Amino acid sequence: MSSTYPRIVVDLSKIKHNVETLIHKASEKQVDITGVIKGANGLPEIIDTFIEGGIKTIGSSRLEQLELTKQLHPESQTMMLRIPMLSELDRMVKCSDISLNSEWVTLNELNHVCQKQGITHSVILMMDLGDLREGFFDEEELFSAAHLVEKELAHLHLKGIGTNLGCYGSIQPDEVNLGRLVQLAEHIEHDIGRTLEIISGGASTTVPLILNDTLPERINHLRVGDNIFLRDMEAFFDYTFPEMYGDAFTIEAEILEIKEKPSYPIGHISVDAFGNAAEYTNIGNRMRALIGIGRQDLGDMTKLIPYDKKIQAIGGSSDHTIVDVTDSDKTYQVGDILSFNIEYELLLYATNSQYVGKKFIKSELS
Ligand SMILES: *Cc1c(COP(=O)(O)O)cnc(C)c1O
Repeated sequence: MSSTYPRIVVDLSKIKHNVETLIHKASEKQVDITGVIKGANGLPEIIDTFIEGGIKTIGSSRLEQLELTKQLHPESQTMMLRIPMLSELDRMVKCSDISLNSEWVTLNELNHVCQKQGITHSVILMMDLGDLREGFFDEEELFSAAHLVEKELAHLHLKGIGTNLGCYGSIQPDEVNLGRLVQLAEHIEHDIGRTLEIISGGASTTVPLILNDTLPERINHLRVGDNIFLRDMEAFFDYTFPEMYGDAFTIEAEILEIKEKPSYPIGHISVDAFGNAAEYTNIGNRMRALIGIGRQDLGDMTKLIPYDKKIQAIGGSSDHTIVDVTDSDKTYQVGDILSFNIEYELLLYATNSQYVGKKFIKSELS
C-alpha cells in the first residue's frame, strides 16, 4: 500500500470495550455471544481484539475468515453462519466447529464427510420465522431434521436450533417470534429426551431485547457483529446503547478538487455511471469538494456520516465522492482530509477494499 489516503482508522480499544460491554450485558440474561467478524472482513486485528475482549466463539459466513481464526487462535471455537454449500463441506469441517443448517441433503453429506475424516461436528438447525432468508419454514421438517441428526447421523451433534431475523424481510425480533422459537426447541427436547445447549435468537437486531428486558427466557445465544462495531441500528430500532462507542471506525479521504458549481447537471439527463436514473434538485451554486474514495470502496457513499455536521456526501461514482461543503464553518482546500463515521454497508466494503488503507490505533479510553 503506497498511498496514505483513503484509509479506515480502526480504534481497537473502543472495539474491545464494546465487546466487553456487550458480553457483560448479555451475561446478565444468561446469553452467550458469538462474535461475528464478517462485517469487518475478518481482519486479523479484529479477531485478536474479539478474543482479548472475551469472545469464545468466532462466527463468519466465509470459510477464509474461519480458517484465519483457527490459524491465529487454535483454541477458539468457530461457527459457520451461512448454510454450507455441498461443495465446501470438506473444507468447512476443518475450520469450523459448529455450523448453521437447513437442508437434509446437506446434513446427510456433512455426516458422511465427518465419518470419512473421523470427527464429530456440531450443528444448529435454523428455523425461518418470517424473515424469508434461510431456515426451515415448515415446523414438521425442522422436527424431522432434529430427529435425523440426533438418532441417525452419528458424526453430527445436535447443539440446538436458531433463527435469523432482520436481514432480508426486515422482520424485527420480538417476544412473539422468539417465543415461538423457544416452543419449537421444547418440542424437539421432548422428542429427543434431553435439553438443547443452544437456542440462538438471532443477530444484532436481537440485542435491543436484551437491553429492554423482553428476550424470552430460554434464548441463550446471539451471533453479533454490527452491534459491536457500530451504533448505526439505533436510528431504526427503538433503543439506545449509550455504553458503546459508535466511532470505533473512521473513514478518512483527501480532497482532490474543490470548486463552486451548479447543483443541477447541464445538458440532456440520462442515467449515471451505474445505469441508475437519479434525481437532481436545483439549489443553486454550491461549493463541492471531490474526495478520492468511491463506490468501489464504500458502496453507497451517501451513507457517509461526516464528523463536520455541516457538510454532506451527495453522491459520486466508482472512484469519486462529491461532498457539499458550502455550509461548513471551515474553508476547505485541496489536500485537506475529510473524516466520516460509517454504517454497516460502508464498513463491509471499506474493510474489503485493497485501495483503502487500514490504520489501527489503541486510544486511551477515559
Ligand atoms: C451476518 C450474520 C450474523 C451477524 O449479523 P450482525 O448484523 O453483524 O450482527 C448472524 N447470523 C447470521 C446467520 C448471519 O448471516
